[in-house]
Amino acid sequence: MMTGQRDEDREVDMSLRPRVLREYVGQNKVKENLNVYIKAALKRRDALDHMLLYGPPGLGKTTLACIVAAEMGQNIRVTSGPAIDRPGDLASILTNLNAGDILFIDEIHRLSRAVEEVLYPAMEDFALDIMIGKGPTARSMRLELPRFTLVGATTRAGQLSAPLRDRFGMTFRLELYAPEELAHILHRSASILNMPADDEGIIEIARRSRGTPRIANRMLKRVRDYAQVKADGKITRQVANEGLNLLEVDELGLDRVDRTVLLTMIDKFSGGPVGLDTLAASTGEDALTIEDVYEPFLLQLGFIHRTPRGRVATMAAYDHLNRPFPGDDGKQDNSGRQVAFFDENP
Ligand code: ADP
Repeated sequence: MMTGQRDEDREVDMSLRPRVLREYVGQNKVKENLNVYIKAALKRRDALDHMLLYGPPGLGKTTLACIVAAEMGQNIRVTSGPAIDRPGDLASILTNLNAGDILFIDEIHRLSRAVEEVLYPAMEDFALDIMIGKGPTARSMRLELPRFTLVGATTRAGQLSAPLRDRFGMTFRLELYAPEELAHILHRSASILNMPADDEGIIEIARRSRGTPRIANRMLKRVRDYAQVKADGKITRQVANEGLNLLEVDELGLDRVDRTVLLTMIDKFSGGPVGLDTLAASTGEDALTIEDVYEPFLLQLGFIHRTPRGRVATMAAYDHLNRPFPGDDGKQDNSGRQVAFFDENP
């Protein structure tokens, strides 16, 4: 089921992807910078510097890489860290590039060490060092590569090895989107997909999309299904509300996993601090998924804090989940949380 859903998402992703910088909603700082760098590179008739994009999944990293290629008038080759198994795989990708091409590597933090080593001279000197022969007669030969631009994407820049990170000339962090920005994206998507939707219906979906365009677009499609079966096909606030409730997305956009994570922290660990691995084991979710997919939004809502001793659920989380905040009734020892809580808010 997961695969089916992913495939469908990918299809929708493709049709809804903005093609030029002007159509890319939000991320204004990133766009401003890119605009300048792209114009400068075009003026010099030079390739763009390598760039690293980081941020949670679904925020538009792949989209941005494709836009950069389009704005530069160049081709893009899309691949990902896990797909490049051996150094030879990367060598063959690199030698097939043309001058000016954009090479997009998604999940670049998952490249193996051996593959990374091939990437260093390629990024720095546009060269490929290859070994010819074996044993004592083996010698290394340097191949020249065309000047290309590497665009790397990762969920967290901190996951990248320092030598790789240092070789990027620009690093951009993508932020979660504001509801108005998501509404803008949704209006555009609804019109491309020919879905009748009013402003209030769109806002309702935008508010409940955890700041993420991919989720917003996916929910738009699910709500459209609901509208077609249960209503007259038009997406209104009521239809959006009912459709999203059916998906178990609550009024703030939290889904079942978000709530499980928070309730586990509250009910099993008295609100924390609890370590990421313990939390993963207790909820049955993958630690990296919690950290990359769920945590950014819970942090933004102010429902959890990260402390050196682990994650802590805040009073807002207790409120939202209708749990009495410990300390209110004096039953639970809340001292650890309070200290950590204030540590995080200098
Ligand atoms: P990532 O590579 O970060 O996981 P994608 O680039 O695949 O994310 O974006 C997911 C989908 O969200 C895209 O298909 C696109 O339709 C939409 N999207 C992302 N960012 C934007 C944006 N800034 N403006 C409009 N649509 C966007």
